[in-house]
Amino acid sequence: MAERLYRLECQLFEAGTEAVPFFVVSAGQVEIVHPDGTAEALVTVHGPGQFTGEVQMLSGRRTLVRARASQTGEVIELDRERLLALVQTDSELSEIILRAFILRRVELIAHGFSDVVLIRSQHCAGTLQVKEFLTRNGHPYTYLDLDQDDDVQVVLDRFQVSVADVPVLICRGDMVLRNPDSREISDGLGLNVAVDQTQIRDLVIVGAGSAGLAAAVYAASEGLDVLVVETSAPGGQAGSSSKIENYLGFPTGISGQALAARAYTQAQKFGAQIVVARSATRLDCARRPYRIEAGEGLSVPTRSVIVATGAAYRKPQIDNLSRFEGTGVYYGATFMGAQLCVAEEVIVVGGGNSAGQAAVFLAQTARRVNILVRSDGLAQSMSRYLIRRIEGNPAIVLRTHTEIVALEGGNHLERVRWRDNRTGHSETHAIRHLVLMTGAVPGTQWLGGCMARDACGFIKTGSDLTQDELGAAHWPPGRPPHLLETSLPGVFAVGDVRSGSIKRVASAVGEGSIAIAFVHQVLQE
Ligand SMILES: Cc1cc2nc3c(=O)[nH]c(=O)nc-3n(C[C@H](O)[C@H](O)[C@H](O)COP(=O)(O)OP(=O)(O)OC[C@H]3O[C@@H](n4cnc5c(N)ncnc54)[C@H](O)[C@@H]3O)c2cc1C
Repeated sequence: MAERLYRLECQLFEAGTEAVPFFVVSAGQVEIVHPDGTAEALVTVHGPGQFTGEVQMLSGRRTLVRARASQTGEVIELDRERLLALVQTDSELSEIILRAFILRRVELIAHGFSDVVLIRSQHCAGTLQVKEFLTRNGHPYTYLDLDQDDDVQVVLDRFQVSVADVPVLICRGDMVLRNPDSREISDGLGLNVAVDQTQIRDLVIVGAGSAGLAAAVYAASEGLDVLVVETSAPGGQAGSSSKIENYLGFPTGISGQALAARAYTQAQKFGAQIVVARSATRLDCARRPYRIEAGEGLSVPTRSVIVATGAAYRKPQIDNLSRFEGTGVYYGATFMGAQLCVAEEVIVVGGGNSAGQAAVFLAQTARRVNILVRSDGLAQSMSRYLIRRIEGNPAIVLRTHTEIVALEGGNHLERVRWRDNRTGHSETHAIRHLVLMTGAVPGTQWLGGCMARDACGFIKTGSDLTQDELGAAHWPPGRPPHLLETSLPGVFAVGDVRSGSIKRVASAVGEGSIAIAFVHQVLQE
């Protein structure tokens, strides 16, 4: 901690700088401004007793704003490590500081104080993915709409991009990303701070869904040195849920995005390092410490591993499916997706709880929601409370014994043909939105033959492992596997990726949290 005098107009930090210090103003005034080319917009002014910073301080990411003295004065300066130590040890200050950080990020997003402009089109599949990636990473953005903004051509000409390149991101006013994937966006915006690959971690968690984030919060808060690797953005499946109503403590429900954002901030507060837009591609399980490889030279040694890679929705065999993904075909009912279907007819395929929730949610804005199931009803697969809501909602039509056989359209899905699987009769409907919620496959492809799995590929753990499986995996004598431990000592599987797991947010969170108790035991062996 250092006290520092500063003069009028003195700059405390510039926008785009990583790991800026935290300043408490003890005298004078500090202006926070958002630079926009040669102009700048005033965001706020901090006076004596107030402090700088927002959530990016926790991760060490680049700041979006510039801080400058508007009066001669004095500040107390803390580097990021000291700030983290402070919020981890002083709960009163932690509440004040984190609340302010979170609300400030919300304000930055609301006012579009950002370092990135998205040039988008509703008719372009990639647009939704880019928006979701930015939103789920809590990164503010402004946008220009190819379909609506008259002056968009000026910007396209200036940056020499064509309509075919859309979606386009313009980062920090000069870097142009054409139809970027998550990795390019995260590199362009500096979402990841450098990973020290020489340091042997206590724990690497693969996957930042509910299970992985819970494990990260418990591990980091209990002093473990933890790295989380996430393919896309924090939140996993729960992050795409419009409203979770059965998670303890939220009687009116909470959106998956809000739950994930809170957990993400909480994990960072305790010092977990989270790398986004990087997929674990291999677990080197031949020797200990293990190594998690995540492509392009990223290889991290670790004493223990938690596999929390969840499951992804199964894609039915329908011609043209991939052609309409993002332009009529979706794998979740998010708020953004719902805006696209206002007053239109929608199909939800699937008979599970997530399909039921999607139907109820979409029925708030859509003209009609058709639920398609191959079986003769929902009783076997969906919770009774959801079935009752569906039955009581005149905007929802349940079509049993029905399967989709064809999708048609141009740039966007326009027609869907479905068939009655008893009679073979098929009919075509002019429906532009199809939400697929048809079961899941585990995220285990990257694990090779490292550990025992069940017939569907889900990872077996604890007492589910047979003596034969432990023998084949050369399980060392001395102790049986812990609860949630795989056939590899010190490697745990939690949440939906685990064989026999209950596919719920609460159980994923519970397993991620419990696993940390066993990680401690393994680290002491
Ligand atoms: C739309 C929807 C609504 C739902 N609603 C509810 C509800 O209301 N209540 C409820 O209890 N449950 C609900 N569920 C189920 C619940 O969300 C899941 O059971 C739970 O979130 C599973 O969490 P998880 O962390 O195990 O896996 P996931 O959420 O699947 O997270 C896994 C994470 O791992 C990442 N990953 C995968 N492979 C790799 C790799 N190789 N490297 C790095 N990262 C990787 C993924 O990108 C993902 O972020 C819903 C699910 C969906 C899809």
